[in-house]
This record gives sequence, C-alpha cells and structure tokens, in this order.
Amino acid sequence: MRVLVVEDEERLARALQRGLQAEGFAVDLAHDGVTGLERARAGEYDAVLLDIMLPGLSGYRVVQALRAEENWVPILLLSAKDGEYDQADGLDVGADDYLTKPFSYVVLLARLRALLRRGAPERPVVLVAGDLRLDPATRRVTRADTDIPLTAREFALLEYLLRKAGAVVGKRELLEHVWESFDATEANVVEVYLGYLRRKIDTPFGRAALTTVRGAGYRLEPDGG
Ligand code: CA
Repeated sequence: MRVLVVEDEERLARALQRGLQAEGFAVDLAHDGVTGLERARAGEYDAVLLDIMLPGLSGYRVVQALRAEENWVPILLLSAKDGEYDQADGLDVGADDYLTKPFSYVVLLARLRALLRRGAPERPVVLVAGDLRLDPATRRVTRADTDIPLTAREFALLEYLLRKAGAVVGKRELLEHVWESFDATEANVVEVYLGYLRRKIDTPFGRAALTTVRGAGYRLEPDGG
C-alpha cells in the first residue's frame, strides 16, 4: 500500500513516514500543498494523509482540486487543532476522514486502515432537486446543464435548503445555520439573499424551486419547482 503524506512540519512528516514504513507501507512525503497536489495527481496512492494548514495551497484546496478532477483517492485530513476548522468543511469538500492534532499514532493507523479497507469512495453525493444540482465537493451549481456562479453565502444558503428539500425552513434556522447568527434584526438579510438566489436559480429558467411559506419560512421544492 502506497501512502502520500503531505505535512509541512518536517519532524512530524518524517515520524509518520518511519512509523508507516515500519508497518509495511510505502510512504512518499510532500511538505507543501502545491507539491502534495502534484504528487497526488501523478502517483497511484492508496491513501493520502493531508495536513490542512500548508504553505502554498491549503489541504482543503488540494482536496477540492483532486475531487474536481474526479480523483477519488481516500483522504484523511489532519488539522492543527480542534475548532480551528469545521470538521464538516473538510468532509464537504470531499475528504473521507478527519483527525485533530495532536493525534495518537495508534488512532491514525486504525483510521488509515479503515480508509484502505473502504477503498476509493464513490463520488460525493451531489444534491439534486429536479434539474438543479449542487456539488459540495466541486462547489458547482448547475441548472439544466448551465453553470450558475454563486457567492459563498448564496451557495451555503442553497446547500442548506437542498439538504432540507421539501421541508419548511424558518428564517431563524437559516440565520443560525448559514449566518451563524441569532440576531432577529438581521432577519431581512435572509429575504434579501433568497431574492438573489431566485434571480439566479429560478427566474432565468422560468421555475420556482424556492417558495415562501407565509408566516413559516421557505421551502425548496424537491422536484425543482
Ligand atoms: Ca501545517
């Protein structure tokens, strides 16, 4: 089994290399994101251990780039400390597992073996409502095969609504999950962004995927409207 370790802390990288070699793995090292991405593209790896905070290109970007190229090598993300990044972020961009530093080598090995047993994952789930598609891995939204560029906030809002497709989602819930805010005085911002989204994903296509449920919130129609 060949493993690529992308880690800029060289002592840690070498310790991982020695440890994994002792377990019978073939181990290649890269110390920055750009080199890591090149190696991962070129090599036939069974798994990649990928630090998030890297010079050149972050671990997130490396995962995104690989997944956008439909490279499904199993990836275990290593993050500097708990809470610095949202675990969900790493998994959303297409990583398979996530480990917080400092980690126990035994745990790392167990997770790595679990990843190898699973093999290359299926393509990450694309969220679909009719002909409206959102791919969390590549951050791409399309409708009727047309690319729809969205801002980060619009994307987050649409992703949340798609994950809850068919359900009525209130403004407060959206503020909490998309804006990380509970401030009722900001409720108008939800309305404003829903308007932006409608003008991008519905109006040009003559559709109404985003509906307002009076007094209750919003619903994304599972059939795309
Ligand atoms: Ca680092």
